[in-house]
Amino acid sequence: MTAAVRIDPATGRKLFATRAAKASDRIAGKGYSVVEDAALTTLPAFPPGATFNAEEQARYRAFKEARRGAADYMPMEGEFARYLDDVYSAEPVPREALTDECEILVVGAGFAGLLLWHKLKDAGFEDVRFCEKGGDVGGTWYWNRYPGIACDVESYSYLPLLEESGYVPSMKFASGFEILEYCQLLAERFGFYDHCLFHTTVEATVWDEASGRWTVTTDRGDAMRARFVILANGILTTPKLARIKGMETFEGESFHTSRWNYDIDLTGKRVGIIGTGATAVQAIPELAKVAGELFVFQRTPSSIDVRDQRATTDEERMTWANEPGWARARRARFARISAGRTALQANDDYLSGKVADFKVRKVHERQLTPEEYVAAQLDSNFRLMEQIRARVDAVVKDPKTAAALKPYYPYGCKRPTFHDEYLPAFNLPHVHLVDTAPSGVREINARGVVHDGVEYPLDVLIYATGFQWMAASTFNMITGVGGVGLADRWAEEGMKTFLGLHTPGYPNLFIVAGPQGGGGSFNFTDAIDTHANYVVWLLETMRERGAAVVDVKREPAEAYARHCREADIASAPLRDCLSYYNGEGKAEPGSLAYYGGSRWRRICADAKATLEPYVFG
Ligand code: NAP
Repeated sequence: MTAAVRIDPATGRKLFATRAAKASDRIAGKGYSVVEDAALTTLPAFPPGATFNAEEQARYRAFKEARRGAADYMPMEGEFARYLDDVYSAEPVPREALTDECEILVVGAGFAGLLLWHKLKDAGFEDVRFCEKGGDVGGTWYWNRYPGIACDVESYSYLPLLEESGYVPSMKFASGFEILEYCQLLAERFGFYDHCLFHTTVEATVWDEASGRWTVTTDRGDAMRARFVILANGILTTPKLARIKGMETFEGESFHTSRWNYDIDLTGKRVGIIGTGATAVQAIPELAKVAGELFVFQRTPSSIDVRDQRATTDEERMTWANEPGWARARRARFARISAGRTALQANDDYLSGKVADFKVRKVHERQLTPEEYVAAQLDSNFRLMEQIRARVDAVVKDPKTAAALKPYYPYGCKRPTFHDEYLPAFNLPHVHLVDTAPSGVREINARGVVHDGVEYPLDVLIYATGFQWMAASTFNMITGVGGVGLADRWAEEGMKTFLGLHTPGYPNLFIVAGPQGGGGSFNFTDAIDTHANYVVWLLETMRERGAAVVDVKREPAEAYARHCREADIASAPLRDCLSYYNGEGKAEPGSLAYYGGSRWRRICADAKATLEPYVFG
């Protein structure tokens, strides 16, 4: 036995020491900047008289249609597989392959894994093992360490277990580096490290009917057996590249934002960045501070709202120290907000409980039909987007650059972003927006990017081209009852789950925050909290009933899938653009994220009360 695997004398179970060294170097750009200039931290007033009339609707449609078919991505394979290397940790800790059995095996050691561990342990489930691809905990916050990274849901609501850990985030929008360290703090505090196999990628998960066990094989040669498998491996896990002619010929340095290479000094260099999604919006202001020349290759502008970053005040620290349950109450208040922008603007008076509501509620003379409701939403959505577009004009000096930075789609259709230094960066003489709409960058050569016949020579090229959505790669390698692969099943029959957490034919397997998973809010950690609670409830229910196996019946899964489809279609006009949320316009309605609002909780509560949807064995 190596030092990485030892036996706990108290329980006889294996404990691990596989955390890699060097997991949390801090860097200069921390996303901590506080902007004091009120002109940059307030939205301009709504332009009077503007309405979402036929002309504006046609403009939105044209904006979308011009881009249809432009999105072309590829996985990081072959010569691009090097972009996936773990640049953050020392070499994997050597250990023997494991062929033993545990009760619960969880894939992933991000917030979902950490929360599951905390709740499972509390409920008396201790024989739990985690497999994590990275060298330390953190998940998204382990991999994403680009300069400027920060959460953009307020950290007091976003970070779970604040009271339990006694931690108070230093900023309203904590930097990703602080969040990674918070994950490490939780892991240390709650004894997580002993249970986790780091640098271990699950390759296949196969159900054995006879023994009622899953066999989980990994890239470290393990073939472990587990009664339960919980997939907690994220929703934006696998990075992707834009497929661009000649990209393999580029002779400068290049990397993807989720594997930021700090060995490359960007100071004074000619840097190019492809993509202007949520990641690029946070990274570009920091890049602008160091690069000699910065070229931003944009296909579609993001909506850039006010961030209003600030430090946690002494008064808040004192109040919370004397207010048991403050974080739980704040998260619960946050979860009541159903409008994305209102949630993300995070009104402190409401969230801290000083005022009872976050807005004055409009009283309609009669209940609106669903169509009227959507039309009213689109109207107010348009007003907000007008303010966001007016902000671009107010900040960006060059009119051509300002015009290119204005988004024409409903707010929230692409991930809304928040920043007070992004737009001003385009006023700097060395920062250049290269508008590649509608096709995007199509050519790269040995020296740099070529667009519209112009060559942009670069020393470093950064791909901010995002991640596969709701497609954690493990999903492709799960084989359930009768040898049927989960990916094949979903491809043939369409996405069918119950509550997003189970699929019939895959007993004792749960998916946290996967496709069709509801019960959350604009705060992502709410969904994983709700899902973790559900899994623990079901395991406790099985323990009480003496059940060894649980599957879900087909009928409730079919009904739930129909509901997901209908909810997606009903609210689709609010997301009428091309984005990863709707598979660039190609996804089957209801097959990705959940849009059914509070209905999930009602279906879940019924299931818990009646146990009707389940087959226990
Ligand atoms: P993303 O939103 O998928 O952005 C990818 C970008 O690449 C888009 O701007 C896309 O343009 C562009 N692109 C692709 N191919 C191109 C080409 N050939 N030429 C030019 N541009 C091209 O990815 P991301 O920014 O990494 O963000 C992913 C998600 O992670 C976010 O939506 C968010 O959910 C999460 N995130 C959260 C935070 C936070 O909470 N703080 C921060 C970062 C990320 P099109 O729009 O035209 O397709």
